[in-house]
Amino acid sequence: MNILFATSEVAPFSKTGGLADVSYALPKALSQLGHHSIVVSPAYRIIRQAGLPLESLDIEVKCPVGRKTVTAGVLKSHIPGTDVPAYFIDQPEYYDRPGLYRDQGSEYADNCERFVFFCRAAMQLIETCKLTVDVLHCNDWQTGLIPAYLQCEYRQRCGYEHLVSIMTIHNMAYQGQFWHWDMLLTGLDWEYFNWRQMEFWGNLNLLKTGLTFADAVTAVSPRYAKEIQSQPMGCGLEDVLQTRRKDTTGIINGVDYSIWNPETDPHLATNFDASNWQAGKAACKTAVQRELHLVESPQTPLLGFIGRLADQKGLDLLADVMQKRATQWDVQWALLGTGEPRYQQLLTELAAEHPGKIGLSLAFSDALAHRIEAGIDMFLMPSRFEPCGLNQLYSLKYGSLPVVRATGGLADTVCDANEATVAAGTANGFSFLDYEPSELEQTLARAVAMYRDQPETWQQIVGNAMHQDWSWHTSARQYVDLYERTIAAHTRATQ
Ligand code: ADP
Repeated sequence: MNILFATSEVAPFSKTGGLADVSYALPKALSQLGHHSIVVSPAYRIIRQAGLPLESLDIEVKCPVGRKTVTAGVLKSHIPGTDVPAYFIDQPEYYDRPGLYRDQGSEYADNCERFVFFCRAAMQLIETCKLTVDVLHCNDWQTGLIPAYLQCEYRQRCGYEHLVSIMTIHNMAYQGQFWHWDMLLTGLDWEYFNWRQMEFWGNLNLLKTGLTFADAVTAVSPRYAKEIQSQPMGCGLEDVLQTRRKDTTGIINGVDYSIWNPETDPHLATNFDASNWQAGKAACKTAVQRELHLVESPQTPLLGFIGRLADQKGLDLLADVMQKRATQWDVQWALLGTGEPRYQQLLTELAAEHPGKIGLSLAFSDALAHRIEAGIDMFLMPSRFEPCGLNQLYSLKYGSLPVVRATGGLADTVCDANEATVAAGTANGFSFLDYEPSELEQTLARAVAMYRDQPETWQQIVGNAMHQDWSWHTSARQYVDLYERTIAAHTRATQ
């Protein structure tokens, strides 16, 4: 099968979050299963910093955007370590900017135009480069127009009749909503601007567009696929999801263990695996304590957080517990994140009040993220909502037990340690249900007590966590099944 994977970010070229990791790892896993994937993404300024070869193709894509015709070049590279081609739409006015979607805290004012063009260009690329494609796999609002272009324009053309589109929701909270006049940029007929298709409370909604026109919809975990069919997780689109529930599947993201594996990770002070993790993690812990200016104390539980500093990630709960307990509890915190200025300020103040106990880096550093994963004892993810979450999966592999709120993908992957789950050998972390600071506090207290007072149980749970297999293998197969089912349904419907 031939899959065109359209995405607004792809690691290691461009990344703001988990979507970039998925865009790297899923096409690679599909290719390992014998399928042909092609990745298409914008040529942001940052892609050149990845240090990977980029060939400038001697072709142009020309697309209408409103009344204009916009031209772009095409750069070609490969997903590192694979034969998966990556095409980058090189339109400097739109993409040669400091950020992917925003700069200095504000969204780019022309984001609608930038991604209308990207969707048009991705479709045009098929024709220009004579690509063989069976499935258009679209991701999040930035690619939401592709299923609409397929259905409303391309399927009437020779050679496109058989194509199907899949719309994957990585995060329902980001929908690409723009004022109604941006409909003119899309070039689609106003007849589609109605509450069943592209319109949402008077605005143009690009995620809704994708969900409406795609042949099948996926969310990045089974639990999240259910949660978004009602409020508040549906973020206003719950009715759309309910209408499409027969075509909606939840497929959990996987981990690329060639990148996230403590046995081979080049960023670590010492490599380790499930057989020698105690010594390995101890060395990595000392290294992280040193790097983040924490007191170098092997016995003190080290709790980590890595992620976007956004409401979604439960930072208010985390800050609340740190404010209350940082002095009393003998624990340390290793925090890495970038995001909302108010959270940056809050964490900066907390770190300043508790030197040696709270280590903070307000940077985007992949290498430090790896070192924190390896050196901490517990990973904190008290998310308000979490479509899948990747860091808890990395943490499992690195023997850093996740402490999570049981929502979305966190509920699907973390099994709370209690008497029954410990006895059954299924416990791999700690979780709580209600989004309350007290719940996080109690769950953390429980985890810290087990770390201190029941070392054998702790070791057993770390063993459970490290032995679990969350690789892409299973999930990629589920996507292949979905592609096949969708193609078969489309063929039946058009015969
Ligand atoms: P989301 O996609 O909601 O941001 P995920 O847990 O699915 O959350 O994925 C986040 C990814 O981004 C992980 O690979 C995580 O390590 C990475 N990440 C987030 N913030 C940072 C940061 N400041 N430095 C390095 N990596 C980060």
